[in-house]
Amino acid sequence: MVETLTHTTFDVQAIRQHFPVLNRVVKGKPLVYFDNAATTQKPQVVIDALTDYYKNYNANIHRGIHSLAEEATAAYEATRDTVQQFINAKQREEIIFTRGVTESINLVAYTWARTNLKAGDEIIISGMEHHSNIVPWQLIAEITGAKLNVIPVNDNGELIMEEFHKLLNEKVKLVSVVHASNSLGTINPVKEIIDAAHKVGAIVMLDGAQSTVHLDIDVQQLDCDFFAISSHKVYGPTGIGVLYGKRALLEAMPPFMGGGEMIKDVTFEKTTWNDLPYKFEAGTPNIADTVALKAALDFVSGIGKSTIRKYEDELLRYATEQLQSIDGIRLVGTAKHKVSVASYVVEGVHPQDLGILLDNQGVAVRTGHHCTQPLMNRFGIPGTTRASFAMYNTKEEIDVMIAGLHKAIKLLR
Ligand code: PMP
Repeated sequence: MVETLTHTTFDVQAIRQHFPVLNRVVKGKPLVYFDNAATTQKPQVVIDALTDYYKNYNANIHRGIHSLAEEATAAYEATRDTVQQFINAKQREEIIFTRGVTESINLVAYTWARTNLKAGDEIIISGMEHHSNIVPWQLIAEITGAKLNVIPVNDNGELIMEEFHKLLNEKVKLVSVVHASNSLGTINPVKEIIDAAHKVGAIVMLDGAQSTVHLDIDVQQLDCDFFAISSHKVYGPTGIGVLYGKRALLEAMPPFMGGGEMIKDVTFEKTTWNDLPYKFEAGTPNIADTVALKAALDFVSGIGKSTIRKYEDELLRYATEQLQSIDGIRLVGTAKHKVSVASYVVEGVHPQDLGILLDNQGVAVRTGHHCTQPLMNRFGIPGTTRASFAMYNTKEEIDVMIAGLHKAIKLLR
Protein backbone atom coordinates (compact mmCIF):
# COMPACT_ATOMS: atom_id res chain seq x y z
CA MET A 1 0.00 0.00 0.00
CA VAL A 2 1.44 3.38 0.99
CA GLU A 3 4.63 1.48 1.80
CA THR A 4 5.41 1.37 -1.92
CA LEU A 5 5.48 5.16 -2.28
CA THR A 6 8.84 6.76 -2.94
CA HIS A 7 10.02 10.03 -1.44
CA THR A 8 9.09 11.78 -4.68
CA THR A 9 5.44 11.03 -3.98
CA PHE A 10 5.68 11.73 -0.26
CA ASP A 11 3.32 14.66 0.24
CA VAL A 12 4.66 16.51 3.25
CA GLN A 13 1.97 19.19 3.03
CA ALA A 14 -0.71 16.50 3.34
CA ILE A 15 1.18 15.00 6.30
CA ARG A 16 1.35 18.41 7.99
CA GLN A 17 -2.43 18.72 7.89
CA HIS A 18 -2.61 15.91 10.44
CA PHE A 19 -0.66 17.89 13.07
CA PRO A 20 -2.70 20.82 14.45
CA VAL A 21 0.19 22.32 16.44
CA LEU A 22 2.10 23.02 13.23
CA ASN A 23 -0.31 25.92 12.65
CA ARG A 24 1.11 27.66 15.73
CA VAL A 25 2.71 31.05 15.52
CA VAL A 26 5.65 31.58 17.89
CA LYS A 27 7.01 35.07 18.54
CA GLY A 28 5.11 36.26 15.51
CA LYS A 29 6.65 33.62 13.22
CA PRO A 30 5.30 30.28 11.97
CA LEU A 31 6.50 27.50 14.23
CA VAL A 32 9.46 25.49 12.93
CA TYR A 33 9.59 22.48 15.22
CA PHE A 34 13.01 20.83 15.20
CA ASP A 35 12.93 19.30 18.69
CA ASN A 36 11.57 15.93 17.63
CA ALA A 37 14.25 13.90 19.39
CA ALA A 38 12.96 15.38 22.66
CA THR A 39 9.35 14.67 21.78
CA THR A 40 7.35 14.48 18.56
CA GLN A 41 4.16 16.40 17.87
CA LYS A 42 0.87 14.49 17.87
CA PRO A 43 -1.39 13.87 14.89
CA GLN A 44 -5.12 14.56 15.21
CA VAL A 45 -5.88 10.81 15.31
CA VAL A 46 -3.88 10.50 18.53
CA ILE A 47 -5.60 13.52 20.09
CA ASP A 48 -8.97 12.08 19.00
CA ALA A 49 -8.17 8.66 20.49
CA LEU A 50 -7.48 10.32 23.84
CA THR A 51 -10.65 12.39 23.91
CA ASP A 52 -12.74 9.52 22.52
CA TYR A 53 -11.64 7.31 25.41
CA TYR A 54 -12.46 9.92 28.06
CA LYS A 55 -15.69 10.99 26.37
CA ASN A 56 -17.10 7.60 25.54
CA TYR A 57 -15.67 4.62 27.41
CA ASN A 58 -13.52 5.71 30.36
CA ALA A 59 -13.43 2.78 32.79
CA ASN A 60 -10.91 0.76 34.74
CA ILE A 61 -9.71 -2.30 32.88
CA HIS A 62 -9.48 -6.08 33.29
CA ARG A 63 -11.66 -6.62 36.33
CA GLY A 64 -14.87 -4.89 35.32
CA ILE A 65 -17.73 -6.84 33.77
CA HIS A 66 -19.77 -3.86 32.60
CA SER A 67 -19.72 -2.72 28.99
CA LEU A 68 -17.47 0.30 29.43
CA ALA A 69 -14.87 -1.78 31.29
CA GLU A 70 -14.96 -4.34 28.50
CA GLU A 71 -14.53 -1.69 25.83
CA ALA A 72 -11.65 -0.03 27.68
CA THR A 73 -9.96 -3.40 28.24
CA ALA A 74 -10.33 -4.32 24.58
CA ALA A 75 -8.81 -1.01 23.46
CA TYR A 76 -5.94 -1.27 25.95
CA GLU A 77 -5.14 -4.84 24.89
CA ALA A 78 -5.47 -3.95 21.19
CA THR A 79 -2.50 -1.61 21.62
CA ARG A 80 -0.47 -4.54 22.92
CA ASP A 81 -1.22 -6.45 19.72
CA THR A 82 -0.29 -3.43 17.61
CA VAL A 83 3.02 -2.98 19.45
CA GLN A 84 3.73 -6.69 19.03
CA GLN A 85 3.28 -6.37 15.28
CA PHE A 86 5.14 -3.04 15.11
CA ILE A 87 8.34 -4.62 16.47
CA ASN A 88 7.59 -8.18 15.35
CA ALA A 89 7.66 -9.74 18.80
CA LYS A 90 6.86 -13.43 18.87
CA GLN A 91 4.19 -13.17 21.58
CA ARG A 92 1.91 -10.47 22.96
CA GLU A 93 2.92 -11.49 26.51
CA GLU A 94 6.38 -10.12 25.75
CA ILE A 95 4.99 -6.57 25.55
CA ILE A 96 4.95 -4.79 28.93
CA PHE A 97 3.55 -1.28 29.25
CA THR A 98 5.71 1.14 31.22
CA ARG A 99 5.89 4.93 31.50
CA GLY A 100 8.66 5.15 28.91
CA VAL A 101 12.21 4.14 28.16
CA THR A 102 13.48 5.32 31.55
CA GLU A 103 11.06 3.04 33.38
CA SER A 104 11.70 0.15 30.99
CA ILE A 105 15.43 0.27 31.67
CA ASN A 106 14.89 0.60 35.41
CA LEU A 107 12.51 -2.36 35.33
CA VAL A 108 15.24 -4.56 33.84
CA ALA A 109 17.84 -3.12 36.20
CA TYR A 110 15.81 -3.72 39.37
CA THR A 111 14.47 -7.13 38.40
CA TRP A 112 16.74 -9.01 36.01
CA ALA A 113 20.04 -7.32 36.90
CA ARG A 114 19.48 -7.06 40.63
CA THR A 115 18.78 -10.77 40.92
CA ASN A 116 21.26 -12.07 38.34
CA LEU A 117 24.38 -9.98 38.88
CA LYS A 118 26.99 -10.48 41.56
CA ALA A 119 30.39 -9.03 42.49
CA GLY A 120 32.88 -9.60 39.70
CA ASP A 121 30.26 -9.61 36.93
CA GLU A 122 30.50 -6.97 34.24
CA ILE A 123 27.99 -4.69 32.50
CA ILE A 124 28.85 -2.94 29.23
CA ILE A 125 27.24 0.31 28.14
CA SER A 126 28.51 2.82 25.60
CA GLY A 127 29.99 6.30 25.68
CA MET A 128 26.96 7.76 23.92
CA GLU A 129 24.25 6.65 26.34
CA HIS A 130 21.42 8.83 27.60
CA HIS A 131 21.60 9.27 31.38
CA SER A 132 18.69 6.85 31.65
CA ASN A 133 20.92 4.09 30.30
CA ILE A 134 23.82 5.00 32.58
CA VAL A 135 22.48 5.83 36.03
CA PRO A 136 20.32 2.70 36.60
CA TRP A 137 23.37 0.54 35.87
CA GLN A 138 25.54 2.60 38.21
CA LEU A 139 22.95 2.06 40.93
CA ILE A 140 22.81 -1.67 40.22
CA ALA A 141 26.60 -1.90 40.08
CA GLU A 142 26.69 -0.37 43.54
CA ILE A 143 24.12 -2.81 44.91
CA THR A 144 25.55 -5.95 43.31
CA GLY A 145 29.27 -5.20 43.11
CA ALA A 146 29.23 -5.64 39.33
CA LYS A 147 31.59 -3.52 37.24
CA LEU A 148 30.48 -1.04 34.60
CA ASN A 149 32.55 -0.83 31.41
CA VAL A 150 32.09 1.66 28.58
CA ILE A 151 32.55 1.26 24.81
CA PRO A 152 34.44 4.36 23.65
CA VAL A 153 33.28 6.66 20.85
CA ASN A 154 35.42 7.90 17.94
CA ASP A 155 35.63 11.47 16.59
CA ASN A 156 32.75 10.86 14.17
CA GLY A 157 30.51 9.76 17.02
CA GLU A 158 30.64 6.05 16.22
CA LEU A 159 31.29 3.23 18.67
CA ILE A 160 34.82 1.88 18.47
CA MET A 161 33.81 -1.70 17.84
CA GLU A 162 37.30 -3.18 18.26
CA GLU A 163 37.22 -1.86 21.82
CA PHE A 164 33.79 -3.40 22.37
CA HIS A 165 35.06 -6.80 21.27
CA LYS A 166 38.04 -6.41 23.61
CA LEU A 167 35.70 -5.70 26.54
CA LEU A 168 33.77 -8.93 25.97
CA ASN A 169 34.58 -11.92 28.17
CA GLU A 170 32.65 -14.50 30.14
CA LYS A 171 32.28 -12.11 33.11
CA VAL A 172 30.06 -9.83 31.00
CA LYS A 173 26.42 -10.59 31.84
CA LEU A 174 24.66 -7.61 30.29
CA VAL A 175 25.24 -5.19 27.42
CA SER A 176 22.88 -2.20 27.28
CA VAL A 177 23.32 0.22 24.40
CA VAL A 178 21.40 2.88 22.56
CA HIS A 179 20.13 1.82 19.13
CA ALA A 180 20.29 5.37 17.76
CA SER A 181 21.88 8.27 19.61
CA ASN A 182 19.64 11.17 20.62
CA SER A 183 22.56 13.61 20.64
CA LEU A 184 24.40 12.59 17.48
CA GLY A 185 21.95 10.55 15.45
CA THR A 186 24.42 7.66 15.14
CA ILE A 187 22.80 4.31 14.35
CA ASN A 188 24.81 1.69 16.21
CA PRO A 189 25.72 -1.73 14.78
CA VAL A 190 23.43 -3.45 17.24
CA LYS A 191 23.20 -6.77 15.39
CA GLU A 192 26.97 -7.18 15.64
CA ILE A 193 26.80 -6.21 19.34
CA ILE A 194 23.99 -8.66 20.08
CA ASP A 195 25.58 -11.60 18.28
CA ALA A 196 28.98 -11.04 19.92
CA ALA A 197 27.46 -10.57 23.39
CA HIS A 198 25.43 -13.75 23.07
CA LYS A 199 28.59 -15.68 22.21
CA VAL A 200 29.98 -14.92 25.68
CA GLY A 201 26.62 -15.62 27.34
CA ALA A 202 25.59 -12.00 27.97
CA ILE A 203 22.11 -10.64 27.35
CA VAL A 204 21.50 -7.41 25.44
CA MET A 205 19.15 -4.53 26.13
CA LEU A 206 18.55 -1.89 23.46
CA ASP A 207 17.42 1.64 24.18
CA GLY A 208 15.03 2.19 21.28
CA ALA A 209 13.96 5.73 22.28
CA GLN A 210 15.24 7.23 19.05
CA SER A 211 15.31 4.24 16.71
CA THR A 212 11.67 3.12 16.94
CA VAL A 213 10.36 6.15 15.08
CA HIS A 214 12.93 6.05 12.27
CA LEU A 215 13.98 2.44 11.71
CA ASP A 216 12.16 -0.81 11.05
CA ILE A 217 12.35 -2.76 14.29
CA ASP A 218 12.26 -6.54 14.23
CA VAL A 219 13.15 -7.83 17.68
CA GLN A 220 13.19 -11.45 16.50
CA GLN A 221 15.62 -10.69 13.68
CA LEU A 222 17.76 -8.53 15.99
CA ASP A 223 17.53 -11.25 18.66
CA CYS A 224 17.84 -8.60 21.40
CA ASP A 225 16.75 -9.73 24.86
CA PHE A 226 15.12 -6.44 25.90
CA PHE A 227 14.01 -3.45 23.84
CA ALA A 228 12.73 -0.17 25.30
CA ILE A 229 10.26 2.12 23.53
CA SER A 230 8.94 5.57 24.31
CA SER A 231 5.52 6.46 22.91
CA HIS A 232 6.06 10.20 22.90
CA LYS A 233 8.96 9.86 20.45
CA VAL A 234 6.74 7.93 18.00
CA TYR A 235 3.98 10.57 17.68
CA GLY A 236 2.15 9.05 20.67
CA PRO A 237 1.30 10.56 24.07
CA THR A 238 3.73 11.09 26.92
CA GLY A 239 3.62 8.87 29.99
CA ILE A 240 3.48 5.57 28.16
CA GLY A 241 6.18 3.27 26.85
CA VAL A 242 7.00 -0.34 26.30
CA LEU A 243 9.43 -2.92 27.50
CA TYR A 244 9.82 -5.83 25.13
CA GLY A 245 11.48 -8.83 26.72
CA LYS A 246 12.02 -12.41 25.66
CA ARG A 247 9.42 -14.54 27.38
CA ALA A 248 11.81 -16.89 29.14
CA LEU A 249 13.64 -13.97 30.72
CA LEU A 250 10.43 -12.21 31.78
CA GLU A 251 9.06 -15.43 33.25
CA ALA A 252 12.15 -15.90 35.38
CA MET A 253 12.31 -12.30 36.61
CA PRO A 254 10.72 -11.19 39.90
CA PRO A 255 8.07 -8.44 39.67
CA PHE A 256 9.16 -4.79 39.60
CA MET A 257 6.35 -3.19 41.59
CA GLY A 258 3.83 -4.87 43.85
CA GLY A 259 0.14 -4.04 44.00
CA GLY A 260 -3.14 -4.81 42.33
CA GLU A 261 -3.31 -6.54 38.95
CA MET A 262 0.17 -8.11 39.16
CA ILE A 263 -0.97 -10.86 41.55
CA LYS A 264 -2.73 -14.18 41.16
CA ASP A 265 -3.49 -14.84 44.79
CA VAL A 266 -2.77 -12.84 47.94
CA THR A 267 -2.68 -14.09 51.49
CA PHE A 268 -0.70 -12.66 54.38
CA GLU A 269 1.47 -15.76 54.25
CA LYS A 270 2.20 -15.93 50.53
CA THR A 271 1.39 -14.05 47.36
CA THR A 272 1.66 -15.49 43.87
CA TRP A 273 2.28 -13.51 40.71
CA ASN A 274 -0.01 -13.00 37.79
CA ASP A 275 0.88 -14.33 34.34
CA LEU A 276 2.78 -12.27 31.79
CA PRO A 277 2.45 -9.48 30.91
CA TYR A 278 0.38 -8.47 33.96
CA LYS A 279 3.06 -9.53 36.43
CA PHE A 280 4.85 -6.30 35.46
CA GLU A 281 1.82 -4.00 35.26
CA ALA A 282 0.93 -3.24 38.88
CA GLY A 283 -1.93 -0.86 39.61
CA THR A 284 -4.29 0.98 37.28
CA PRO A 285 -2.27 1.58 34.15
CA ASN A 286 -2.18 4.64 31.92
CA ILE A 287 -5.21 3.50 29.92
CA ALA A 288 -5.92 6.60 27.83
CA ASP A 289 -2.36 7.05 26.65
CA THR A 290 -1.99 3.36 25.91
CA VAL A 291 -5.12 3.46 23.76
CA ALA A 292 -3.82 6.53 21.91
CA LEU A 293 -0.43 4.89 21.33
CA LYS A 294 -2.19 2.46 18.99
CA ALA A 295 -3.45 5.40 16.93
CA ALA A 296 0.11 6.74 16.68
CA LEU A 297 1.60 3.42 15.58
CA ASP A 298 -1.19 2.86 13.06
CA PHE A 299 -0.57 6.35 11.70
CA VAL A 300 3.14 5.64 11.19
CA SER A 301 2.48 2.20 9.69
CA GLY A 302 -0.15 3.68 7.37
CA ILE A 303 2.43 5.98 5.81
CA GLY A 304 5.19 3.38 5.98
CA LYS A 305 8.43 3.64 7.89
CA SER A 306 10.63 3.19 4.84
CA THR A 307 8.81 6.05 3.07
CA ILE A 308 9.25 8.27 6.12
CA ARG A 309 12.89 7.24 6.47
CA LYS A 310 13.72 8.14 2.87
CA TYR A 311 12.16 11.55 3.33
CA GLU A 312 13.89 12.18 6.66
CA ASP A 313 17.23 11.09 5.18
CA GLU A 314 16.76 13.70 2.49
CA LEU A 315 16.07 16.36 5.13
CA LEU A 316 19.18 15.32 7.06
CA ARG A 317 21.33 15.44 3.93
CA TYR A 318 20.05 18.90 3.07
CA ALA A 319 20.47 20.24 6.62
CA THR A 320 23.99 18.79 6.84
CA GLU A 321 25.03 20.48 3.59
CA GLN A 322 23.52 23.80 4.60
CA LEU A 323 25.06 23.74 8.09
CA GLN A 324 28.47 22.82 6.72
CA SER A 325 28.35 25.82 4.41
CA ILE A 326 28.26 28.23 7.38
CA ASP A 327 31.63 29.47 8.49
CA GLY A 328 32.48 28.50 12.07
CA ILE A 329 29.84 25.78 12.42
CA ARG A 330 31.05 22.32 13.35
CA LEU A 331 28.83 19.28 13.18
CA VAL A 332 29.06 16.98 16.17
CA GLY A 333 28.19 13.47 15.05
CA THR A 334 29.23 12.66 11.52
CA ALA A 335 28.67 8.92 11.60
CA LYS A 336 28.15 7.04 8.36
CA HIS A 337 24.76 5.75 9.49
CA LYS A 338 22.50 8.29 11.13
CA VAL A 339 18.87 9.03 11.93
CA SER A 340 17.71 12.58 11.23
CA VAL A 341 19.57 14.44 13.97
CA ALA A 342 21.90 17.36 13.21
CA SER A 343 23.91 18.46 16.23
CA TYR A 344 26.30 21.38 15.89
CA VAL A 345 28.40 23.91 17.70
CA VAL A 346 29.13 27.44 16.58
CA GLU A 347 32.61 28.70 17.33
CA GLY A 348 32.54 31.36 20.05
CA VAL A 349 28.79 31.11 20.64
CA HIS A 350 27.10 29.41 23.60
CA PRO A 351 24.40 26.95 22.45
CA GLN A 352 21.88 28.46 24.86
CA ASP A 353 22.27 31.98 23.38
CA LEU A 354 21.83 30.48 19.95
CA GLY A 355 18.72 28.61 21.04
CA ILE A 356 17.11 31.79 22.38
CA LEU A 357 17.81 33.71 19.18
CA LEU A 358 16.48 30.87 17.03
CA ASP A 359 13.34 30.77 19.17
CA ASN A 360 12.84 34.45 18.33
CA GLN A 361 12.63 33.30 14.70
CA GLY A 362 10.03 30.67 15.64
CA VAL A 363 12.60 27.85 15.40
CA ALA A 364 12.48 25.30 18.22
CA VAL A 365 15.80 23.50 18.64
CA ARG A 366 17.25 21.80 21.68
CA THR A 367 20.43 23.13 23.27
CA GLY A 368 22.58 21.64 26.00
CA HIS A 369 23.95 18.22 26.84
CA HIS A 370 20.81 16.31 25.80
CA CYS A 371 21.10 14.10 28.91
CA THR A 372 24.37 12.72 27.55
CA GLN A 373 26.92 14.57 29.67
CA PRO A 374 29.68 11.94 29.38
CA LEU A 375 29.35 12.13 25.58
CA MET A 376 29.67 15.92 25.64
CA ASN A 377 32.75 15.54 27.85
CA ARG A 378 34.16 13.13 25.27
CA PHE A 379 33.88 15.89 22.66
CA GLY A 380 35.17 18.53 25.11
CA ILE A 381 32.04 20.68 24.80
CA PRO A 382 29.34 21.74 27.27
CA GLY A 383 26.62 20.94 24.78
CA THR A 384 25.37 21.34 21.23
CA THR A 385 22.50 22.89 19.35
CA ARG A 386 20.41 20.02 18.02
CA ALA A 387 17.95 20.08 15.16
CA SER A 388 16.09 16.78 14.92
CA PHE A 389 13.70 16.18 12.05
CA ALA A 390 10.38 14.39 11.76
CA MET A 391 8.17 13.39 8.84
CA TYR A 392 6.36 16.77 8.88
CA ASN A 393 9.45 18.97 8.56
CA THR A 394 10.45 20.59 5.28
CA LYS A 395 13.52 21.91 3.48
CA GLU A 396 11.95 25.38 3.64
CA GLU A 397 11.96 25.10 7.44
CA ILE A 398 15.65 24.18 7.32
CA ASP A 399 16.20 27.36 5.27
CA VAL A 400 14.48 29.34 8.05
CA MET A 401 16.87 27.84 10.61
CA ILE A 402 19.89 28.55 8.42
CA ALA A 403 18.80 32.18 7.89
CA GLY A 404 18.21 32.46 11.65
CA LEU A 405 21.68 31.08 12.29
CA HIS A 406 23.30 33.66 10.02
CA LYS A 407 21.45 36.41 11.89
CA ALA A 408 22.28 34.98 15.31
CA ILE A 409 25.96 34.49 14.51
CA LYS A 410 26.25 38.10 13.35
CA LEU A 411 24.69 39.29 16.61
CA LEU A 412 26.57 36.99 18.97
CA ARG A 413 30.08 37.06 17.54
N1 PMP B 1 17.15 7.24 25.79
C1 PMP B 1 17.24 8.09 24.77
C2 PMP B 1 18.24 7.85 23.69
C3 PMP B 1 16.40 9.21 24.72
O1 PMP B 1 16.49 10.06 23.71
C4 PMP B 1 15.46 9.41 25.76
C5 PMP B 1 14.54 10.61 25.77
N2 PMP B 1 15.20 11.83 25.62
C6 PMP B 1 15.39 8.47 26.79
C7 PMP B 1 16.24 7.39 26.77
C8 PMP B 1 14.38 8.59 27.90
O2 PMP B 1 13.14 8.23 27.40
P1 PMP B 1 11.77 8.52 28.17
O3 PMP B 1 11.46 9.95 27.94
O4 PMP B 1 10.78 7.64 27.48
O5 PMP B 1 11.95 8.16 29.57
